[in-house]
Amino acid sequence: MSSRKGVKKMRDEKVGIVGYGVCIPIERIRTEEIVRRREVGRKDLDDFLAKIKDGLLLRYKSIANYSEDTTTIATEAAENAIRMARIDPKLIRSVAVGTESKPYAVGLTARHVASFTGMGQNVFVADIEGACNAGMQAVNYVMSQIESGVVDYGMAIGSDVSQAPVRDALEYSAGAGAGAFLLGKDDLLASIEDMAPFSSLFLDFWRREEMPYPKHFGRTTVEAYTSHVIGAMEELLRRHPDMKISDFDYITFHQPSGYMPLKVCKTLAQQEISVGFDETVRDRLRLTQEDIEKKVKPWLVVLETGNTYAASTLIAISAILDKARPGENILAVSYGSGAYTIATWLHVENGIKKREGCGPKVQDYLSRRREIDFPTYVSYLSERIRREKKRLVYPRVAGEVEDAGDGSLEVLLCLGCNRVYYPIRNRCFQYDCEGPLEKITLPRRARLIRIVDLPLKQRRIFDVNVMREGYVYIVDSEPNELKPGVELEPVIRRLNYEGSDGLIIYGPCYRPMFRRS
Ligand SMILES: [Zn+2]
Repeated sequence: MSSRKGVKKMRDEKVGIVGYGVCIPIERIRTEEIVRRREVGRKDLDDFLAKIKDGLLLRYKSIANYSEDTTTIATEAAENAIRMARIDPKLIRSVAVGTESKPYAVGLTARHVASFTGMGQNVFVADIEGACNAGMQAVNYVMSQIESGVVDYGMAIGSDVSQAPVRDALEYSAGAGAGAFLLGKDDLLASIEDMAPFSSLFLDFWRREEMPYPKHFGRTTVEAYTSHVIGAMEELLRRHPDMKISDFDYITFHQPSGYMPLKVCKTLAQQEISVGFDETVRDRLRLTQEDIEKKVKPWLVVLETGNTYAASTLIAISAILDKARPGENILAVSYGSGAYTIATWLHVENGIKKREGCGPKVQDYLSRRREIDFPTYVSYLSERIRREKKRLVYPRVAGEVEDAGDGSLEVLLCLGCNRVYYPIRNRCFQYDCEGPLEKITLPRRARLIRIVDLPLKQRRIFDVNVMREGYVYIVDSEPNELKPGVELEPVIRRLNYEGSDGLIIYGPCYRPMFRRS
């Protein structure tokens, strides 16, 4: 395929992906399990279950546990992208996070990620809203900053831990996940050849200020989705007169379920394509049944995770890049309700060969799965929605660890106000807090010595004294995994919050080693 007409760029000027990473929470629940509990008494339950499983293609949902939120999973995805690129995080001068589940309505998720991943202070930070399209909007924003010479490296992230009303179709589909692309100009794994937008004021889904859940018009989304996905592809085809959709080696459309992208495919596989706005490009939209089987179906990650919203398209592209070879072309059409699509053309570059051994693949995250039961699922949901609670309450596990190499990280504890500062600073946020402050050092790779039996009052709430006494909090693990000698890695997690309107306290916790490289 030839480059963009009229704006053909020199090879070395191309902007693209220099590192990518995802994060999918370890905890999953079978969609069927939720449906059975929510639809008790429904006469056509078996038919309904078949529709969810085989029609919508929803099998599992990924769930953020008490210690996770949009910021923590965005941080893990960004860490993976930085490790793959093997660059100093201080070189990254822009971070954009696309999300519809910001932990703070005012308070930048992007700055949290920048700080937690070791970036410097002269960094542009932006949180971007655009429903499920926000992740690719972040990619477009950072790409433009690099193209125009504002920054050399920037991080674009899609991350969501989205909520849905119970017994709503959204509850059966909403998952949790994050995808991050570190963009730059050198040693590209894939170049961004073009991004073609299509948007209109088609409000199929929305969430009003201060409301915990979105609302939607149900099946209206099918029309909004289909027309906008096709509209963006038409714009891409108009920009590239010799391009056909079937020329692409890999194709992914936003995955709110398995049904929606396959519905578009089915439409494009018909003899007479009846949708779209531009008859002049219609013939070039066509896909064959073989295209759909080979180029679209293998990347339906949604079966294992549910809809990861703003992360969905970045995770699908990452799954493709895990398999792609130099010279291949990827088409990814993201979609956000309201409604907005971007058709992105990526060209896989030689740098992809270096990807092998650079951290976990999407499949590794999908395989790392722990099934939770319905009561646990309900308790996670209610924790996100209940707003009157004073503190983050959940069973805490603490351990004594020793340094197993790879350097260290410094954390500041304020014993006066029970807060953790990571990265460290020289005083408490609260100007009249008298502390005392205490700096501790934690290993980047740890080995468990023993699990600590916490006193009753520390078993469910965060207490900075646990860390002061030299112990660490351990997450994402079952007791049988925590044998002495097991290796642990630090992950940034939510430790506490201060009422419904106070600060959220984040800091390093440990989990059984998952990212070995
Ligand atoms: Zn303090």
